[in-house]
Order: sequence, then structure tokens, then C-alpha cells
Amino acid sequence: MAFLDRSIKSLFLLEFIKAMGLTLRYMFKPKTTLNYPYEKGRLSPRFRGEHALRRYPNGEERCIACKLCEAICPALAITIEAEPREDGSRRTTKYDIDMVKCIYCGLCQEACPVDAIVEGPNFEFATETREELLYNKQKLLENGDRWEREIAANLAADAPYR
Ligand code: SF4
Ligand code: SF4
Repeated sequence: MAFLDRSIKSLFLLEFIKAMGLTLRYMFKPKTTLNYPYEKGRLSPRFRGEHALRRYPNGEERCIACKLCEAICPALAITIEAEPREDGSRRTTKYDIDMVKCIYCGLCQEACPVDAIVEGPNFEFATETREELLYNKQKLLENGDRWEREIAANLAADAPYR
């Protein structure tokens, strides 16, 4: 019985020394974890985050109300209404995305002929209510204005592969 006790104790000691060795080995290595939200990882230019509607540099909306994004959306998350303006151009009067339905497939962005609707780099848009995730045109245009620099850089980085 005493022999068994000694064996268990030496086994425990061995495991303890191994564990301490492992701890010391990793203690001085660079950390592999991030202290989110104070530190953030790098995002791919193809990251599909929060949606945004973009404008041209002169402030004009890019969207020409062709409705391709609405037609291709597999989740039926996009609702568009449109009418011609006085100058003959066609623009949306309503552009809604139900972000609760959206599955972030990116097909709306792929279908858009003028790079108007995009999925930007923002992934921090959690809300407390469902209603806040029903985006309208104003909200989407505001997102576009806010993230245009990053979105344009990501589109340019991805352009050779499209
Ligand atoms: S990302 Fe996909 S599911 Fe979401 S709005 Fe665009 S097409 Fe629809
Ligand atoms: S966002 Fe693009 S695909 Fe959708 S209606 Fe406007 S121009 Fe067409």
C-alpha cells in the first residue's frame, strides 16, 4: 500500500513539473489571443459585414434602381421601390434591408453593376431590438458615407480577382 502511495505521489510530482515547464515556456512567448474590443484582428478585403449604399465623389447616389440585388437576394431581405426623377434618371424612393433575414451571402454586392450596395468592414452593429436591424435607405447611405474610405480600399484590393 505504501509503495502505491509513493508511486502516485511521484506521478503527481512529474505531472506538476511538466505543467510548470509548459507554463514557463509559454509565459514569454507573444500572446496568441486578442484583448477584444481594445484589440482587433486584421480583416480580409472580402469580409462581408454591415451593408452600405455608396455615393459618387460628387455626392450623387450610385444606385440606379435596377433591382438586381433585390431579385438575387435568396433571403428576400431587400425591398426596393423606385421612380424616375425629373431629369429622367431612375432612383430608389425606398431601399430597405431586413438585416435579421440577411444571411451575409454577398450576392447583392456581386450583382450590383455600379458597386452601390456593398457589405462593408463593420461587424460591430449588434442591437438590443429587432426594429433597429430594419435598415432603410437613409441608414444605408449613412453607412456608405461613414465607411467609404475603407470600402473603396477593399474593392480596389479585390478588383484583380473579380
Ligand atoms: S448579403 Fe445575401 S442575404 Fe444579405 S441582403 Fe445581400 S443578397 Fe440578401
Ligand atoms: S444597389 Fe445596385 S443592384 Fe441594387 S438596385 Fe441599386 S444599382 Fe441595382
